[in-house]
Amino acid sequence: MTVLITQTALSGLAASTVLRSLLEHLVEHDFVAVQAEHGWTLDYEGAQILFHADGDTLSVQVQAPTQETLFDARMMIHHHLAEFAACEPEFIRWEGDSPQFERPPAFRILTVVSAQQVSPHLRRIRFHSENLARYQSDEDFHCKLLIPRPGNADPEWPTMGTDGLPRLPSGDKQLDMRTYTIRRIDASASWLEIDFVLHEDAGPGSAWAVQAQAGQQIGISGPGGRTARPAEWMLLAADETGLPAVARILEGLSAGTRGKVILEVQAASDAIPLNVPEGMDLSWIYRNEATPGTGRQLVDAIRACTIPEGDRFVWVAGEFSMVQEVRTWLRQDCGLTGKEQLVVAYWRLGMDETRMKSGGRRSEREPGESQTEEARAADDQAGNTPE
Ligand SMILES: Cc1cc2nc3c(=O)[nH]c(=O)nc-3n(C[C@H](O)[C@H](O)[C@H](O)COP(=O)(O)OP(=O)(O)OC[C@H]3O[C@@H](n4cnc5c(N)ncnc54)[C@H](O)[C@@H]3O)c2cc1C
Repeated sequence: MTVLITQTALSGLAASTVLRSLLEHLVEHDFVAVQAEHGWTLDYEGAQILFHADGDTLSVQVQAPTQETLFDARMMIHHHLAEFAACEPEFIRWEGDSPQFERPPAFRILTVVSAQQVSPHLRRIRFHSENLARYQSDEDFHCKLLIPRPGNADPEWPTMGTDGLPRLPSGDKQLDMRTYTIRRIDASASWLEIDFVLHEDAGPGSAWAVQAQAGQQIGISGPGGRTARPAEWMLLAADETGLPAVARILEGLSAGTRGKVILEVQAASDAIPLNVPEGMDLSWIYRNEATPGTGRQLVDAIRACTIPEGDRFVWVAGEFSMVQEVRTWLRQDCGLTGKEQLVVAYWRLGMDETRMKSGGRRSEREPGESQTEEARAADDQAGNTPE
């Protein structure tokens, strides 16, 4: 069997401490790290990653059977090393086999087929693309959309640098990256659908969705993962940004699931039909005149829930401040473990996604500022790179 091998080493750091934090983070995300003779090993989607800390040097080797698995594992480690070793991603150099691609392997061009107003504030866009099999996953259903700037009728798409890392176009050809949920997909029929929230103060995502017409193109990368773990009792709560994910999660639940679904939207006309198991109680909260992200109705409704002992899972998505309060409540007052919850900021009031994540991305952070838990969680939901 072919084995492709690539490796990197970072010096001048507290290698054991960095490695411990990195592995703890990956284990929290359900990866299994095993102690070996010369360090730690971790399997990542067909690739094997070997870590070795020696004094001030952390070495990582990736072994993979194909170019694509080598690329994916290397990108995952590249992103996490930059984060946990607190260095700029471009300082990390890889040696050995280098994946040979014209474009990042997960990147696809999406062409708009149709657009439909699902509710006053939700616009569903169906896209055509070849080779979508990679995106057909019930667990990894978030993605990054790469959106050309207005007026850019002839977009350029990501390429691969000579260092084997993705390169995004710049200047007038710059692409804005935004995170979305794949609401529906049929890879065999070459289409997928995304539900875009149309909001005030529209950024590239919302503004693009409003004007989207058949034939227009954007890019997609990812997919990224982590969703609700099915459990006997579940609480699913979100504002409209999490509504597409809730709809998908509900479609995957067994009919016997018990629990609650709490959804906040602008008005009664924004409530849409959902397939809710009989044992789950669905309630809609309407903001009416209030600005999104400013009220307490959703957080109060979540906190009013009694979370039973036993096999349970809580999934919450929405505005940053709401999410922070819910996360604290679940941990401190309800005693939920990390395996029993996934609570993620999908957006932040008064801040675009790039700035929200700059709590996450080193190059956009103040020196010494660490990545916020929210930014890391949001990044983990869809990958941080145009893979
Ligand atoms: C894993 C994940 C999955 C997501 N899935 C979806 C999805 O399926 N559909 C979807 O529509 N969104 C989804 N989101 C949320 C979406 O990424 C953000 O709302 C994003 O900010 C939209 O980008 P934008 O370019 O429209 O606005 P940005 O340029 O990011 O922001 C511009 C301004 O709009 C404000 N803003 C952003 N979102 C909202 C909002 N919902 N209501 C009011 N003001 C807002 C910001 O505070 C900022 O002031 C998801 C986010 C994550 C992390």
